[in-house]
Amino acid sequence: MIFLIATQNQHKKKEFDRILAPLGIEIKTAGELGLSLPDVDETGTTFQENALLKARSGCLISGQPTLADDSGLCVDALGGAPGIYSARYSGGDDEANNDKLLAELGDRPVAERTAHYACAIAAVFPDGREFVVLGTVEGHIGFSRRGTGGFGYDPLFYYGDKTYAEVPPEEKDKTSHRSVALHQMAELLKEEIKNDQ
Ligand code: IMP
Repeated sequence: MIFLIATQNQHKKKEFDRILAPLGIEIKTAGELGLSLPDVDETGTTFQENALLKARSGCLISGQPTLADDSGLCVDALGGAPGIYSARYSGGDDEANNDKLLAELGDRPVAERTAHYACAIAAVFPDGREFVVLGTVEGHIGFSRRGTGGFGYDPLFYYGDKTYAEVPPEEKDKTSHRSVALHQMAELLKEEIKNDQ
């Protein structure tokens, strides 16, 4: 069964592929299906709502079952910020977002720097079935950047005693919010696809 993935991010596509291919699910980007997807206004108030908005739009345009995700970082001491606004937190790039996060946390001690990444993945079928799952991973925010891997807030996000930017991608994939959500979605789709056959 072919699923559209409503992202152009090749890293995400590969991760979805690795986990869903064993179920007989083939993941295609819009470009690979000869389509171009409009940007979707992320007007939801939760990761789940925004993932659903993107998956619905992709499904409507492609006529294919569609997967979409929405993710971000939630810092407890900041009331869950940057949350759904993670990508646009500072109005600048990843570096500016990390600078703003460090400034907002100031010199709060480690115990007050707890945070989690969250990732919602939505699946929408042309017959109207909709599913959404949420994966999280708990960690804390460091006092300065460490590591050169990953992206976004990874140089500041400690999982155990290392940041996500200090470990190889395979290592991050074992625990990440995206991989937790993907495994949940794989379980769910396994049942749905079985019922379809
Ligand atoms: P999106 O869901 O790909 O739009 O990601 C939203 C934003 O959340 C990204 O631009 C990053 O700032 C942040 N984010 C989401 N997942 C991760 C991650 O695994 N590492 C670092 N930052 C992330």
